[in-house]
Amino acid sequence: MKPLEWKVTAQEGNARTGILRTRRSVIETPVFMPVGTQATVKGVRFEWLEAELDARIILGNTYHLFLRPGVDVIREIGGLHKFSSWTRSLLTDSGGFQVFSLTDLRKLTEEGVEFRSHIDGSKKFLSPEVSMEIQAALGAEIVMVFDECPPGKADFQTTRKSLEMTARWALRSRNRFDQLQNEKMDTGFLAAENLSGRQSLFGIVQGASHLDLRRESLYKTVEIGFDGYAIGGLSVGEEKSVMYDVIENIAPQMPEDAPRYLMGVGTPEDLIEAVYRGVDMFDCVIPTRNGRTGTAFVSSGKLNIRNTKFARDTEPLDFACSCSVCRRYSRAYLRHLYQTGEMLAAILISHHNLAFFLDTMWRAREAIRGGVFENFRRDFIGKIRDAEKEKSGAVRGE
Ligand SMILES: [Zn+2]
Repeated sequence: MKPLEWKVTAQEGNARTGILRTRRSVIETPVFMPVGTQATVKGVRFEWLEAELDARIILGNTYHLFLRPGVDVIREIGGLHKFSSWTRSLLTDSGGFQVFSLTDLRKLTEEGVEFRSHIDGSKKFLSPEVSMEIQAALGAEIVMVFDECPPGKADFQTTRKSLEMTARWALRSRNRFDQLQNEKMDTGFLAAENLSGRQSLFGIVQGASHLDLRRESLYKTVEIGFDGYAIGGLSVGEEKSVMYDVIENIAPQMPEDAPRYLMGVGTPEDLIEAVYRGVDMFDCVIPTRNGRTGTAFVSSGKLNIRNTKFARDTEPLDFACSCSVCRRYSRAYLRHLYQTGEMLAAILISHHNLAFFLDTMWRAREAIRGGVFENFRRDFIGKIRDAEKEKSGAVRGE
């Protein structure tokens, strides 16, 4: 039996809706997965994620949890679900992305990566095997292979060398993962109808902006065989057009009978453009990160609550949004909270931003099911473009 059940339910062009069933929840795709770096989606209680936002899956970060509270603590308590009380699905990343962003703090070999903790400078080591062991102790429904993530603008030779190692690491991840499942080291094991109750493992396609290397990486990844496939290494400094080009050329080539996950991307606009090109799953820190800096995502793009023009504005963040923040609080009040350093500002704006991202995915699913996604995409992007034009016009006029 498989750890996941996946079926495509509607399709328009490359865009598709699907149902992904894990041992802990049923997830409708395209889906946006809120990021819970430190076993918490910053500023948003699980009660809200469950009830109003209805998030069926969130992320946990291996790197951060490995350093604090440490994998032994989480294993002893019985895994990340038990530790945090989150009972729906979890996806954990491999820790690779965070380690590779510590350029001065790491030493890379075929075996793995030695690095210094950004917290206390102590020496740590991550490899495909160690990452699988940590992720088994965390017990998420979806585990990611340990990969190397080269910079977005890496040249052809550097990228080729990197993706060859990523392929060797993917195989090592697969082997260690399978052993751990057989040894029952997964703390999240749960019997579920017609499912194995085990963790699932996703492979990652790398290759920076080089399309032929991306195809090669896809081939090597599919050859090993995974429960789902991800596109990694995008939104790391390359142009937007390059990112869309990679997605357009790679996503439709990924196996149709498995979910496709675009890692760490992006703005609502990016999400719609990637859904259009065939992606099913997303995660990104921007709804909560921007929420903490006073930026709200709205139908017309972005709104900066610090702006003095909102001081007496009694409108909600977004009239089109039906979240509990928009139903109750005004821009003037949110601006006041932000300006006075009240923690509630970050909490409320993060909540709205997540509601907006999840609602955007809900609307995309409705549009695909109704066969009107092409129109929906044009309207959605059109509104943002119009508002941008208006803004730049206003600046010129000042
Ligand atoms: Zn709202």
